[in-house]
Amino acid sequence: MINKTKDTMAIIDFDNTLFETRRFWREHLFPSYEKIGIPRKDIESAFIKSTTVKVDYFIPELFIQELYSLKSCQHNKQVLEKIFNDKVYSPSVKKYYFPDAIRLINGIKKNSRAVLLSYGDKKFKNKFFKHCGINKHFGSQNIFVTTDKKIEVLNKLPKSSKYIIINDNYSETKNMVFWLQKANADTMAYLLDPNLDIKNESDRIVICQSIKEVCQKI
Ligand SMILES: [Mg+2]
Repeated sequence: MINKTKDTMAIIDFDNTLFETRRFWREHLFPSYEKIGIPRKDIESAFIKSTTVKVDYFIPELFIQELYSLKSCQHNKQVLEKIFNDKVYSPSVKKYYFPDAIRLINGIKKNSRAVLLSYGDKKFKNKFFKHCGINKHFGSQNIFVTTDKKIEVLNKLPKSSKYIIINDNYSETKNMVFWLQKANADTMAYLLDPNLDIKNESDRIVICQSIKEVCQKI
């Protein structure tokens, strides 16, 4: 149990930490494109291309462009865009929060500052965060979207004397812990690893199978 004070800051990741991003795209969005006749494997390849070819994060405009370029796509861009906007910028996406995600944020906020640090396209993420309701849980002043490596933006965050990291990416977490430990030796991280297949080498990183477990251990 960490001795938390008001000047403890929790730096929380969004994708696949609070929100089931992988499942969200595939269960929530992709079926709508299948319904208009685009085969699943083509949607998948358009999606992968749109997150790997130019940059390594998702940009909606690239995805629409990739879908539109598919031989199997018989629709104009407006149709593809409308489907995207209707499905993605919708309160219905709230069902893809992991169980206990909102409880975790509210629990942290009782005695610490909660900051959301998310990697990705600023324009897309900021719009998505409004619609999925995460904005109101953190407050927009506590939300940071970056296309740089997270360790490169840590010094842009408000200063704090204690840090907690909650994330699902092991190497990113390890780097963040290494960096933040210079400011505070008590820095701790809680790493979401539902399948428990990460080989942990750090006594500063606690592996958790679920957010419920993070809530218990933090
Ligand atoms: Mg993540």
